[in-house]
Amino acid sequence: MTASASPIFPSIVRPFQLEGCDVRGKLVRLGVAYGDILAPHDYPPIVARLLGELLALAAALSTSLKYEGTFVIQTSSNGPIRMIMADVQSSGGMRAYARYNAEDIDDAGDATIAELLGTGHIAFTVDQGPDTTRYQGITAIEGESLTDCANTYFRQSEQLETEIMLAAEPGGNGRDARAAALMLQRLPRPERSIVDPEEDDEKWRNAVVLMKSMSADELLDADIPTDQLLYRLYHETGVRVFEGRPLRFHCRCSRDRVANTLASFSADDLKDMKTDAGLIVATCEFCRTDYTFDDDQLAALRPAN
Ligand SMILES: [Zn+2]
Repeated sequence: MTASASPIFPSIVRPFQLEGCDVRGKLVRLGVAYGDILAPHDYPPIVARLLGELLALAAALSTSLKYEGTFVIQTSSNGPIRMIMADVQSSGGMRAYARYNAEDIDDAGDATIAELLGTGHIAFTVDQGPDTTRYQGITAIEGESLTDCANTYFRQSEQLETEIMLAAEPGGNGRDARAAALMLQRLPRPERSIVDPEEDDEKWRNAVVLMKSMSADELLDADIPTDQLLYRLYHETGVRVFEGRPLRFHCRCSRDRVANTLASFSADDLKDMKTDAGLIVATCEFCRTDYTFDDDQLAALRPAN
């Protein structure tokens, strides 16, 4: 590789800890993982951008999974973008898709999140299998951006004080797509080393101010390596980085899963779903894979009938 080669934007969650100030954090950068998620779709840029920010938010929060499981964020609202769903597995697989009304999307520029999504909510769910509790947090859609919305959610619901910045640039058709999140969390009180509450508060505020001094362009700049970005912001305090978790696009759909879903429909419903050629074509909303079933295959799904 020559010095002029364009650097690769990674797909990673990098945990870190600021020295001497009881603040830890996550830096998320999504390159190929985000591009691969966009590639099967043809989203308007403004939809792709919001989807990227939601993915980065999901990636930042997914590392709180203590066991194997899936962290899911889903918006639900009445605006031009009716729904975005993003999920991240503890193994690093992630996927997302958006539902929207193309004719209502104005790609002119800086629409607020309320204009894009309308009135509704964002739900946060942890799914750790059938025998475990699904924790769900929920927040109203409000503010200028998804960053505002997420920070409002943290203030209302998290036990840990948390601040986040989100940014995304979808590039063209998934090429050069970049999304990122920088999240700071204050350690729980019993774990803090600073005894003086004023000093403790000031160090937290200072860490947040430094985070906010960074622009979205810097967060998304492939020329600034991930660790270098943290060092730029926090070299005075000192920052310790921990091993990152790689992320990638991974859809969990399969022919068997689609077959199980189809088996739950009545024979009449299945008839209504058929194409003119007499087939049922089920398309995965995440990866756009088509699963086709003919009459014989459908009959095999329903041996009891
Ligand atoms: Zn799929």
